[in-house]
Amino acid sequence: MKSALITGGAQGIGKGIVQRLRADGWRVALFDLDGEAVAEAKADDPELLALVVDVSDESAVRTGFSQVRDWLGDRGLDLLVSNAGIADPQNGPIENLALQDWRRMLDSHVTGAFLMIREAVPLLRKASGSILLMSSTRALQSEPETESYAASKGALLALSHALAVSLGPKIRVNSILPGWIETAAYQKKGNRSVAEHTEAEKAQHPVGRIGDPKDIAGVVAFLASDDAGFITGQRFVVDGGMAARLIYTA
Ligand code: NAD
Repeated sequence: MKSALITGGAQGIGKGIVQRLRADGWRVALFDLDGEAVAEAKADDPELLALVVDVSDESAVRTGFSQVRDWLGDRGLDLLVSNAGIADPQNGPIENLALQDWRRMLDSHVTGAFLMIREAVPLLRKASGSILLMSSTRALQSEPETESYAASKGALLALSHALAVSLGPKIRVNSILPGWIETAAYQKKGNRSVAEHTEAEKAQHPVGRIGDPKDIAGVVAFLASDDAGFITGQRFVVDGGMAARLIYTA
């Protein structure tokens, strides 16, 4: 049975990935900052190793990994999905952006990925596993006042090709660039809702709808499988075709 560790796995896209891998028969561990969401994940699926860990906190990551090593026993880790992060990309005007807010964004996405990968590599090497970094189409294109998010997601693309070159042939590394993925139904109970989208919001996507965490989870399942054994250092845009559309004001 294969083993995976998913960060930010208690809600949103990460939760969709956890559910897909469990349905496919994987053993799954998750790290998430939100204690309530972690408790709900564990209650829903008692076989999960679900831990409260802030991925940007070096000692919390080290402590979390000591539990992951116990959980794995003699096995290696087959998959790390570095997905945790702050989903809201807006930072306001750059001239007013506080250094601590800039750092908070970079810490949760980029430093968090580094801290996780540093601990995971020996375990991944043991299983000839793979790493997936959750970037964003915002690594390639932007709305105004999203500099800290765009910079952090761009850094993850660079990190993934650098790692692919360093960690091969044992470990493959790829990045996923989601577009608009609706996560309202994948939040903890107190924050869960049914999202409503306008026809225009849906129709602007060439596929005619907004994305669901299942759309990302399917790509994760493929990239983690032996069918993707010849793919490393690559990036996969999963955005319903939005990045392919040329937009001019009418
Ligand atoms: P979400 O807010 O629904 O879920 C994120 C989860 O990560 C939460 O459970 C949160 O508690 C956890 N988290 C946040 N910071 C953390 C930290 N420092 N340590 C541990 N856990 C932490 O967000 P989402 O929309 O599912 O986003 C997941 C990832 O996908 C993010 O990296 C986000 O940037 C990326 N992404 C999302 C979209 C989208 O449209 N939803 C699009 C592109 C990229």
